[in-house]
Amino acid sequence: MLLKGTLLKGYSGFYYVYSEDRVWECSLRGRFRVKKQDFIPGDKVMILSDRGIKATIEEVLARENSLIRPNIANVDQALLVLAMSTPDTDFNLLDRLLVQVAHAGIEPVIVFTKYDLARESDLSPYEYYRTIGCRVFYVSNILAQGMEEVREIVRGRVSVLAGPSGAGKSSLLNSLEPSLKLKTGSVSDKLGRGKHTTRHVELLEAAKGLIADTPGFSSLYLPPMRKEQLQEYFPEFGPYRKECRFKDCLHVKEPGCALREAVQGGEMTGLRYEHYRQFLEEVKAAENKY
Ligand code: GDP
Ligand code: ZN
Repeated sequence: MLLKGTLLKGYSGFYYVYSEDRVWECSLRGRFRVKKQDFIPGDKVMILSDRGIKATIEEVLARENSLIRPNIANVDQALLVLAMSTPDTDFNLLDRLLVQVAHAGIEPVIVFTKYDLARESDLSPYEYYRTIGCRVFYVSNILAQGMEEVREIVRGRVSVLAGPSGAGKSSLLNSLEPSLKLKTGSVSDKLGRGKHTTRHVELLEAAKGLIADTPGFSSLYLPPMRKEQLQEYFPEFGPYRKECRFKDCLHVKEPGCALREAVQGGEMTGLRYEHYRQFLEEVKAAENKY
């Protein structure tokens, strides 16, 4: 029987494939062995079940996308994990991650952790991200709050986590799938150790979905892009950009800039605009290097 599955990891000549809610230990068909095909976790494959949990990989389907770090194919979404407190929410980092994720063509899902520690009752800086089209969740890993919604978003999809160390990524994975028993807190042997070792990346089963065991988008550098491109990643600029006097307005010093007027008039939040200005400088500096 042919089944469609997702490769979780390759290990000493065997490939572990997730299909029909279970893991199959697969070997390769001869023609793949000859081609020395480079499979990566996340690759969609057709497997022929043999007996028990053994199977052979018969076909590899075309990749829809792939990330380099971690090296994973067919990523459906990035869960951007940021704490609401301890440490305070780093909105600059969040906006940076949103640019990186959008540039990679991956859908963002924002998960604000440590809801139990949040002091402000004013959620508007957080809720703002909904108005620009992001899905936003609030969770407490300690009180196990907000998990049902995140479970739903994870189910049946391939996700990669992103966010600074200490944000609660390992804790979130444990909340979703207690059997993972990942270490949390300031220990080195935990999610993210892949950064400094050559350990192979793998997809973990969590809440009926698959999540990369190594976080992505950990570089603070923005990807190389044209300076005109950056504003595309700020969807809320759209309506104002159309009103700028110059078509190629970068919204910095140009006269007749409708976007800057909107910020000055308090019509649009200044914080994301400030981040845009900062990122623009970085993009320009990188552009000049090549
Ligand atoms: P990671 O580095 O992103 O994987 O973060 P960890 O999962 O290791 O969490 C860092 C610290 O924050 C640990 O001490 C956790 O116990 C704590 N932590 C994680 N999530 C929450 C939460 O929702 N509420 C509270 N109060 N603490 C949390
Ligand atoms: Zn402008």
